[in-house]
Amino acid sequence: MLHDTYNRIHDYLRISLTDNCNFRCTYCMPDESISLIPQKKLMQADEIFSIAEIFTTLGVKKIRLTGGEPLVRKDFAAIIQRLSTLPVQLTITTNGVLLDRYKEVLQKAGIQSVNISLDTLDPVKFLQITQRDQFQKVWDNILMCMDHGIYVKLNIVLIKGFNDDEVLDFIRLTKSLPVHLRFIEFMPFDKNEWNKDKVVHNQLVLESVAQQYELFKLRDDKNDTAKKFGIFGHAGTVSFISTLSDSFCGTCNRMRITADGKMKNCLFGAEEFDLLGAFRKGENIIPIIERCLLKKHKMLGGQFDDYTHVDPDKLQNRSMIKIGG
Ligand code: SAM
Ligand code: SF4
Repeated sequence: MLHDTYNRIHDYLRISLTDNCNFRCTYCMPDESISLIPQKKLMQADEIFSIAEIFTTLGVKKIRLTGGEPLVRKDFAAIIQRLSTLPVQLTITTNGVLLDRYKEVLQKAGIQSVNISLDTLDPVKFLQITQRDQFQKVWDNILMCMDHGIYVKLNIVLIKGFNDDEVLDFIRLTKSLPVHLRFIEFMPFDKNEWNKDKVVHNQLVLESVAQQYELFKLRDDKNDTAKKFGIFGHAGTVSFISTLSDSFCGTCNRMRITADGKMKNCLFGAEEFDLLGAFRKGENIIPIIERCLLKKHKMLGGQFDDYTHVDPDKLQNRSMIKIGG
């Protein structure tokens, strides 16, 4: 079992497969043209498997593949196929645009749930936020997943003045579709043009939904980041991920590995521990993993507590696309 100094057990690993992406979401990628991690510095498929396997011997029960866009890795099928042999719940976070291409691969790997990012239901705004004209493709793939019985969570990053007027449109989807919405507060990362005035406080979103719909609380699992609600008469659900306004650090069980094999103990943590470098030298990486966790801060990477006072230029971190969301 992996513990930190606050007695939090860590059994959930997020692995970024790449810092590359076929979209350019403005809140995720820095404005300037991004330089990609060189191919030989990326964890290779067999390295990903071996490192993940080591984590399972330390008690990891769940692995999420992310990025960048995990489905742009040419060897994605081989990676997920191998990881599916580990005794973990395996899942992915994706922008959804390539899901049809990987339908059989995901089925074979036993993937039962996927998180798909979709910040707007308006194709014009979709193009504006992702800089790709792919709304219809993503939407068709969301429906395809549901048709195949996959549990679909929709990640929606709310940005004031951009999509906060669409909350009820998203909620209406849940009437007939078994889709599980997750409203996420816009978070500050390197050069993502964040400022506190763009954050939509989730409590206000919840209140506005509750004025129109009869919500009932659903049970959250111990380490859930999302507070989940059902809506009477609806097939889907709605959750709120309030990282900034009501952080869930107290029950955090998450660790991350970047695509270049650096372990991060927190999304907001500045510290990185080079697992891949050590692994390539044939060193035992377990002491490094343990040391990394012992450095974990109580909350939000030790970088801030009240988001309304954050100066984004003072935060030390990668951009989201380089961390792996
Ligand atoms: N490309 C995949 C996708 O878009 O789902 C996986 C990687 S993406 C970095 C993972 C998640 O992080 C997405 O749901 C995305 O919306 C979210 N994300 C990215 N930047 C964010 C930010 N600044 N604040 C909140 N969530 C963010
Ligand atoms: Fe790509 Fe996902 Fe970031 Fe959008 S949120 S740029 S799809 S990695």
